[in-house]
Order: sequence, then structure tokens, then C-alpha cells
Amino acid sequence: MKRYAGEKTPYELFSEAVDRKDKNSADTIALNANKHKVEIAYRYYERTMDSQKLGSLTPSRVLSSVKEHLLGMYSSRCKLVKDFRNWHFNNNPQTYYNVCPYCTINSANTTEHILPKEVYPEYAVNVLNLIPACSECNSFKLYDIVDQNGEIFTINFYTDTLPDIRYLFARITHIEGGVQLEYYLENRNGVDANLYALIERHFKRFHLIDRYYAKAVQELSNIKNYFKSEDISSEDDYDRAANKLIRKTDEDSIEYGRNHWRIVMYYDAATSPVFKSYMMAQLHLRP
Ligand SMILES: [Zn+2]
Repeated sequence: MKRYAGEKTPYELFSEAVDRKDKNSADTIALNANKHKVEIAYRYYERTMDSQKLGSLTPSRVLSSVKEHLLGMYSSRCKLVKDFRNWHFNNNPQTYYNVCPYCTINSANTTEHILPKEVYPEYAVNVLNLIPACSECNSFKLYDIVDQNGEIFTINFYTDTLPDIRYLFARITHIEGGVQLEYYLENRNGVDANLYALIERHFKRFHLIDRYYAKAVQELSNIKNYFKSEDISSEDDYDRAANKLIRKTDEDSIEYGRNHWRIVMYYDAATSPVFKSYMMAQLHLRP
């Protein structure tokens, strides 16, 4: 089994959490009697996760009789969950400190169960089934984890590696009195077809296009202010300022990836002829 969080397996962490409970409580007695079944279930989880088939995992029937005891193990304040969160933010290269990996907008103020604990109570405190996320994403996560074709809805930040080529884009168009920016997904750079389909399902489940749009409305004024502060008096000046912005997105993308909504927005605005003509008019310049 995987060694994790201080050289312990997820099952050892579970077992220790049971040992910390009051030995004579009905919960502890029931959990102790079922420890071996939990250990088997944890192994099964890990194997299925490693083969990226979590969507096909069936809930444990033999543990359904102790469902309430298993669910009672989980609390956001319990030691196991707190230790896990600290470990996670220090060790998962695909997530940044305290930011929800599902949306990359909000802070990860909750701990999310990859397989919902109401359906899979046996994994309520399996650290491989936990990931810090935001409450907004959590509210979009439903009990169904796969679509009608058996394909899982959400990216798994332990087993799926997101590509560093662009699949998220921002389209900038003129509207009455200004410009607007809309995000869209497109597989124009050849992301693996299965991975791209997963990204599309993930975006849909968490309403990311709409949520990024809402963020873009605020962020677009920051880009406008940037150009206004750059002392631009000619088209060459504008191009220089735009190139400076592009270099900045290149630097930032090393940390956040090329498909981070803010990086996409800054890059696509800085390279957009529509945005340029809008900005030039704002600055009272003619191209
Ligand atoms: Zn989120």
C-alpha cells in the first residue's frame, strides 16, 4: 500500500483514528470488529485508483451495516483530516496552497470526498479519497460520480495529470460601450482525447465557464488599468506594454499552468486585436 503522511498507509491512519476513540463506545466496538474489512476495502480503493477506474468502484456491501459508525469517523476537525490537509498542501505539486484545485478560484475551505461518503462510507476517512476543495465546488458535486457511459465527472488530482498545452481560451468581442470576454474550451492543440473529454466533463460539473466569466468581469478592469498606467502614446508603446504582459503570463504559467483562468485571460487579452483597438480608442490613439 501507499506510504503516506509520515510514512503511514491510509489504513494505518484509519486504525490509529479508531484507537484514539473511547474504547468502550459502541462506535469503537463496531469499528474494531470490522477493521479487517476496512483494510481490504482500502486496498481495493488503491488498486482501482491506480488504474484510474474509481468510477467503477462499487460500495462495500459487507460494511454497509456499520455505515453510521464509519461516517462518524469523519469530521473536519478530527486529527486525521487536519494532518491530511497540511500534508496535502505541502506535497501535491498540482495544487497551490489553500486554493481549491477544482476551480482554482476560491480558497479550499472544506475537505471534499472524491467518492461521496454518503454512498461510500467506508472511505469517509481514507486519505486517498480526500482532497481540500471550496464549498462552492462541493455544492456542485452530486452523488452520481459517472455519466451514462460510465465516465467519471471530475478530475482526480492524484492520478490525472493536466496537460501543459492550452485547452482553455478567452474570446474577446466588442459590445456596446466596451469589450466582453468569454471563456471556451477547445482541443486545438492535441490534448489526449480521453483526458480532454474528462476536462470537459469537469468544467461542466463545476460550471467553470460561467464562474470564470464572472471573475473576468472584475479582472478585465485590472487589465485596462494596466494599459492606462503604462504611459502609452503610440501603437509601438501599446505593443511594448502588451509584450510585457505576455512575458508576465509566461512566468506565471510556470507555477499555475497555461490553462489557469487568469493567465488565459491576460494572455488572450494581450494578443487580441479586438482588445487592442478598444484600448487604443480608450487611450485616444489611432492605430
Ligand atoms: Zn472550487
